[in-house]
Amino acid sequence: MAEKVLSIADSITVGELAEVLNLSVTTLVGELFKNGIAATINQRIDFETATIIVEELGIDVELEKKETTVTTERRVHELSAKAVERPPIVAVMGHVDHGKTSLLDAILGQKVVDGEAGGITQHISAYQTVRKDRTITLLDTPGHEAFAALRQHGATLTDVVIIVVAADDGVKPQTIEAIRFARTANAKIVVAINKIDKEAANAQLVKTQLATEHNLNPEEWGGDVVMVEVSAKTGVGIDKLLDMVLLVADIEELKADIDVPAEGLVIESHMETGRGAVVGLLVEQGALTPSSFLVAGTAYGKIRTLQDFSGKTIKTAGPSTPVTVSGFKELPQFGDIFEVVKSEKEAKAKASVVRIEREQNAASTNVTGADMLRLMTQKAEASDFNVIIKADVQGSLTSVIDSLKTIDTGGEVNLHVISSGVGNMTENDIRLVAGSNTVIYGFNVDLPPAVKQLATRERAEVRLYRVIYELLDDARLSMEKLLAPEIVETQIGTLEIKGVFRTMKDEIIAGGLVKSGKVVPNVLVRMTRGKGQTLEVLGEAEITNLQREKIESKEVFEGDMCGLSLKTHKKVMLEIGDKLEFFTRQVVERHL
Ligand code: GDP
Repeated sequence: MAEKVLSIADSITVGELAEVLNLSVTTLVGELFKNGIAATINQRIDFETATIIVEELGIDVELEKKETTVTTERRVHELSAKAVERPPIVAVMGHVDHGKTSLLDAILGQKVVDGEAGGITQHISAYQTVRKDRTITLLDTPGHEAFAALRQHGATLTDVVIIVVAADDGVKPQTIEAIRFARTANAKIVVAINKIDKEAANAQLVKTQLATEHNLNPEEWGGDVVMVEVSAKTGVGIDKLLDMVLLVADIEELKADIDVPAEGLVIESHMETGRGAVVGLLVEQGALTPSSFLVAGTAYGKIRTLQDFSGKTIKTAGPSTPVTVSGFKELPQFGDIFEVVKSEKEAKAKASVVRIEREQNAASTNVTGADMLRLMTQKAEASDFNVIIKADVQGSLTSVIDSLKTIDTGGEVNLHVISSGVGNMTENDIRLVAGSNTVIYGFNVDLPPAVKQLATRERAEVRLYRVIYELLDDARLSMEKLLAPEIVETQIGTLEIKGVFRTMKDEIIAGGLVKSGKVVPNVLVRMTRGKGQTLEVLGEAEITNLQREKIESKEVFEGDMCGLSLKTHKKVMLEIGDKLEFFTRQVVERHL
């Protein structure tokens, strides 16, 4: 248990947080910066970010959310000991005409109904099949746009992606797109080499292409990617494909809790005469039951009917189950997170909080926990600068890409050209980047009004240039921002403790002899014990008061005795003979 529990609101300014934590604003700003957030004293950070920062600082304080408003933050799915195995969620993707639909038909043993007929442009059709008593959830992602739309909500929907490649056609642009999607979604890849029944089929060629050009190495060649030769037409290899999917899923140990309130994602929604809002949901955890109160984004309601993917009425739906429900009072958005709450009142309150949030969202510059986590995970690897490039003609496209590649970051920032092409910006370009950290550069191209609108709504970064050097300067600046800031410490002096007068929870009053340099107030202090091999860092503190011969002093030099008040983050028992090092710490932005 932490020594101290502090209640803070849903969001708090950096200055307020420093105050409640009893830290200097500089320390807090420095810590935020270390985590990739350049925040000012008046910037608001959310509760999760604050929690993460407190943890990173190692302060013995537990933050607790003031229960003043209803929160809309997504719960983190931490698994309990009671978590149970759940079916893998598998997406089938690939180039057009390579046989995605036929493969789904073959797996499900039925004709896949084309749900797009009703004019629903963004949705995911979801199905389930059983193989050797085990359920597999299958997602059909038409055109990949739906997938991109989901990503903007931070949803990592799929566990496994089956990439369908026609054996008589090989790797094509949408195959590459599918590989990229699988990788960004952190999903396992299983390759289905389809149409193996055809005379022109050349599975070896497909494998060679995948291995040499896309770093997907077949298991049989010593790699780690399962590739199965199948024919959606004759049914050859389908069972093996499913077995392999289950095998890959087993390695992942997919689990979820069922005795928690149900939660998941909205994967389709449309209005039906007589039924009202008909909504497709994919349950991620918990068990969904009829008559539950649901909230998803700004929509809420009480489940009137609960059906499985085939339209059969069911009584409960556990993790990884796709369902269709009716009872929402309005249509939730595709990609919204849904959750079950206790009452209609709570559902309504949450929905209205989201509504207000979405209305205010455009102008908000707040840092959220999700941003923070993203930044922290990014920090772990070399930073990526993701771009999409559109240009007027092939020649300028090539030179833009080539010039971008010459920007040298010493290997610290990787340039990823997610996609490139000739022609104006399209809605698809925007959807591809929505929610991710990708910049779309346009060189001598236009941004049609409808696309511009979508870009504003999705907050996609579109930058148009007519001069190549300006585009390159912009890219260089953006890449500089991705360089990890440097933390520079400047040594000021050292001291040896000669007496400890008082030790409180967060304050020490001690005296000592300045051994080198000088001591000044308001600098940072590192408290150490022993030296060489046995050197132990006891902690960091800040000098709040400095005295020489019992008089407050601005500086005390080498060879003189002084008294110090140290503000600590935790209780530290200093002893005679311990050393103090005085220093300042600055966060320095770096340049290319
Ligand atoms: P999708 O666009 O990826 O969904 O591809 P479809 O499933 O619509 O298939 C495209 C075409 O390829 C259709 O004419 C299918 O009949 C055909 N096709 C799909 N799988 C196979 C297969 O395994 N063998 C053969 N010979 N044809 C196939």
